[in-house]
Amino acid sequence: MSYEAVIGLEVHAELLTQSKVFCGCSSKFGAPPNQNTCPVCLALPGALPVLNRRAVEFGIRAGLATHCTVANYSRWARKNYFYPDLPKGYQISQYELPLCLAGRIDIVTEAGGPKRIRLTRIHMEEDTGKNIHDAHGDSSLVDFNRCGVPLLEIVSEPDIRSAAEAGAYLRKLRTILQYLEICDGNMEEGSFRCDANVSIRRPGATELGTKVEIKNMNSFRNVERAIEFELKRQAQALDEGARLVQETRLWDPDREVTRSMRSKESAHDYRYFPEPDLLPLLVSDEWIEEVRRGLPELPDARRARFARDYALPEYDADVLTMRKDVADYYEEAVRHHKNPKALSNWVMGDILRIIRERKLDNALVIHDWPVPPERLAAMVELIDSGEISGKIAKSVFEEMVNTGKTPVQIVDEQGLKQISDEGPIIAAVEQVIAANPEKVAEYRSGKDKLFGFFVGQAMKATQGKANPQKLNELLRAKLSS
Ligand code: ADP
Ligand code: MG
Ligand code: ZN
Repeated sequence: MSYEAVIGLEVHAELLTQSKVFCGCSSKFGAPPNQNTCPVCLALPGALPVLNRRAVEFGIRAGLATHCTVANYSRWARKNYFYPDLPKGYQISQYELPLCLAGRIDIVTEAGGPKRIRLTRIHMEEDTGKNIHDAHGDSSLVDFNRCGVPLLEIVSEPDIRSAAEAGAYLRKLRTILQYLEICDGNMEEGSFRCDANVSIRRPGATELGTKVEIKNMNSFRNVERAIEFELKRQAQALDEGARLVQETRLWDPDREVTRSMRSKESAHDYRYFPEPDLLPLLVSDEWIEEVRRGLPELPDARRARFARDYALPEYDADVLTMRKDVADYYEEAVRHHKNPKALSNWVMGDILRIIRERKLDNALVIHDWPVPPERLAAMVELIDSGEISGKIAKSVFEEMVNTGKTPVQIVDEQGLKQISDEGPIIAAVEQVIAANPEKVAEYRSGKDKLFGFFVGQAMKATQGKANPQKLNELLRAKLSS
């Protein structure tokens, strides 16, 4: 029996504000345990929250960039539950009146087509602290540094139909938040977290099936694998005539299975009620317009512009605009030397490879480029003007990465200039012909395939520096004479 997958994602994004959402404590990741705390975020009696305006601005940015309606009036609520990392015994969150409603994110599916995923809402809330279970023998510890860090919860409609679409959606959402510079998108450090709601149904059915919420996935790959596992598990259960229960399951990345954690709580279990310590959140149209004017060029627009203005394939435009800093790097290189496609190949290939190898892409903004953009441009210029061959360029590039020298310097110092003069090329060709009399005879009696052998040998004789076209011409002439 085949089923249709129905998936909705809830993403928690930690905002890059300097301070927490309801107090002045630093919200920076990585401080010694419990250093970034005060009476407010430790929930000492009588301490009162004060809203961080910048956090709201970031929420508005996210809403506008995802085509939501930003509400002029929204409200804070208490979501009550007991957990050691939640000192107040409740989380301040938005509930029935969130900041942003009804947006959308467009993704590209595996088949290559565009697809629109609707957003239900984006609301603001505070993060919890962190329980640490394995650091201190049998006991658990709690670190309140994260307590009160501002979060956006971005909730999609159940429009996603496969694990791959879920991955595409998450990557796109992360790209948008990174362009807006409101979230660093680091899944390993937990500043971009995803819960996946997964159900299946018979093709053509209009009602939703029983959903399972999966937690504990800290990479895109894990999200995709967890969803794939869960879809199979549910299909098998239904095939066997079992009933699915609504529950929360944890992804176990080592065993690659989901395990039941608890039966799903529902909203009324949390006893939501309006937060009495905070006024309703009023956002004026003027403020919304001001934030809108300050938005950067967003990924979709930039990708379209790259494809159009630089005559790049859609694929290139997509890869180059996935990160804002990479797109900036690329445009800077093209400003120095106008060969957009060649530069795109170098950026997508060698530059991004080194960035990945060195894990530089964990940072929101890469400052430490393996090669500065103007030098990459200068190197491509050397290729285009015939000074060096494409093959030599590979070693020049590696030299630039390793030594920090300019391409011109490297080419001069190592004598890598391409040989276009006929004299030395003819000498190399004659040398190879003289050294291989039998092969020459075979070639002349019709074994055309040997031509490649001669090219290789002659190229070697010039240390790879011969102009390939010239070499081909001269070799063919000599061999047939
Ligand atoms: P909850 O109150 O359990 O969090 P919501 O109705 O708020 O549930 O939905 C949370 C997320 O689950 C949303 O992303 C939504 O699209 C998704 N969702 C809701 N029902 C289903 C379903 N039957 N199958 C898959 N996803 C679902
Ligand atoms: Mg939920
Ligand atoms: Zn504090």
